[in-house]
Amino acid sequence: MDGAGWRRFRLKEKKNEAEGAKSFIFESSETPMYFLPGQHVIIRFQDLEGDQRGKMRHFSISTSPLEGKYIGITTTIEPDDSPFKRKLDSLGNGEEVDVFGAIGKFIFDPGLWKESIVVLVAGGIGITPFRSMIKYALSMNGNFRIRLFYSGKTTKSLVFRNELDGLAAGDSRLKIFYTVTGEPERPGNLHSGRIDQEFIRANVEELNNAIFYVCGPPRMVEEETRLIVSDLGVDRNRIRTEQFLGY
Ligand SMILES: Cc1cc2nc3c(=O)[nH]c(=O)nc-3n(C[C@H](O)[C@H](O)[C@H](O)COP(=O)(O)OP(=O)(O)OC[C@H]3O[C@@H](n4cnc5c(N)ncnc54)[C@H](O)[C@@H]3O)c2cc1C
Repeated sequence: MDGAGWRRFRLKEKKNEAEGAKSFIFESSETPMYFLPGQHVIIRFQDLEGDQRGKMRHFSISTSPLEGKYIGITTTIEPDDSPFKRKLDSLGNGEEVDVFGAIGKFIFDPGLWKESIVVLVAGGIGITPFRSMIKYALSMNGNFRIRLFYSGKTTKSLVFRNELDGLAAGDSRLKIFYTVTGEPERPGNLHSGRIDQEFIRANVEELNNAIFYVCGPPRMVEEETRLIVSDLGVDRNRIRTEQFLGY
């Protein structure tokens, strides 16, 4: 499952994805990286100085293995960012970084997804591994149904929204339920508030047959996991989690 080891990758492209979020697409300067949808990498700047959190960060791969020999990461870029993020954002095309991976067990699993209802619960930038999983899964045959619950602070901060909507419009196996937590009025057809049990119950047909993936900042992952177990009565073994430590 792991294709791990340090390799040099060079920046191919930078993209604005939403307010305060960018993708960075890298290509290998050496051998391409083998990875499974949902896995993550570690990025290191050997020469970075003055960052209290060190020279390395973990990032889920937001691209799908089917998008060619590239790996993409997507992260928040804000004015008060850490030296690490400022360095990442200042990279020009062709500049190199050290990448370790791919690692992690928070993955699309064809055997598990087959015939199931797969409920993906994303908080903020926690959407990143789900883009990879969804793009990959929809390219396959299978009777799975994906229900993506995606919560962001504001409408403008929802990453990949147009692309995800396009995927859902083209494949009835994917349904998406957005919610925003930081806007007082209900904007358009979006739900507002957290992803709570009513919101999930109203949109997932067979909870007993569902498997859950939860990804986002640690507190959100803990709260959603507690809610899924105690309010929805889902067995803990049917829940996979990934915590984005550092938020
Ligand atoms: C398995 C895994 C996968 C991950 N995948 C992703 C991913 O796909 N995308 C992603 O964006 N992140 C991901 N992360 C989190 C990522 O590794 C970083 O921790 C995160 O992006 C924060 O980066 P940063 O430390 O540079 O802080 P920033 O992004 O600069 O800041 C994040 C927050 O921390 C505050 N902060 C910054 N520096 C400090 C400090 N020294 N002390 C206290 N607070 C501070 C900021 O004010 C801000 O609120 C993942 C983590 C793990 C473990």
